[in-house]
Amino acid sequence: MRLIFLGPPGAGKGTQAEFICRDFNIKQLSTGDLLRYHRKEGTELGKKAQEFMDKGELVPDSLIIDMIRSELKKPEYQNGYLLDGFPRTIAQAEAFDKLINELGQTLNAVLVLEVPTEELVTRLTARRTCRVCGKTYHLVYNPPKQEGICDVCGGELYQRSDDNEETVRNRLAVYEKQTKPLIEYYELKGLAYHIDGKGKIEDIYSRIKEILQNKT
Ligand code: ADP
Ligand code: ADP
Ligand code: ZN
Repeated sequence: MRLIFLGPPGAGKGTQAEFICRDFNIKQLSTGDLLRYHRKEGTELGKKAQEFMDKGELVPDSLIIDMIRSELKKPEYQNGYLLDGFPRTIAQAEAFDKLINELGQTLNAVLVLEVPTEELVTRLTARRTCRVCGKTYHLVYNPPKQEGICDVCGGELYQRSDDNEETVRNRLAVYEKQTKPLIEYYELKGLAYHIDGKGKIEDIYSRIKEILQNKT
């Protein structure tokens, strides 16, 4: 199964992706996680991406498309994948259409996770992320068992530098302008499935699971 996860920053894509990938045996590809890895390793791509990420702007399409292209050719994506945080512009979506054709694959569904803006700010400003595995927590809604430490891998939790209120508001504005048009793009292809992203994490997952079970 091949899926795209669409939704504003903080909608819960990463949180839900973990359950989806576990149950449907596919691999998550988060462009944000991948870019943060490149930054940590100090690669050319990481250096180029840095200034955009720190401002909450999008990294240029050509860099992202090249990164996705080389990633999706790896064997671990052969069984299917969930794209989290990609595509984010119409140009990226068009490039992905071409790529998936070249790979001889088809896209099964685009999940659109919907959460009101004010809740997104609350979710993102109290988000904590594991330095080692990238898993996210929330200080109030989804705290780790032990403060400051990842439940899964024992890694240190930190606050992403772009999870401050000012940058968050900019990221939300960028989403409205550059990414939201993708919803219609996939609606027209008959691939979009809207999911109410408010409420308990496990209830949201049940909604997603019901949609996906009808797809396999
Ligand atoms: P995204 O990947 O879409 O940016 P995350 O999965 O990182 O979003 O979630 C953003 C923040 O919101 C995290 O702090 C996460 O723990 C929290 N969160 C996720 N789902 C919910 C939910 N249903 N209710 C409240 N907070 C949530
Ligand atoms: P969130 O899920 O909280 O929105 P991400 O981790 O997906 O955040 O993205 C963090 C930053 O990485 C974005 O603000 C942007 O600068 C960059 N980024 C990630 N994915 C893309 C993409 N597909 N196109 C352009 N920039 C991206
Ligand atoms: Zn971890």
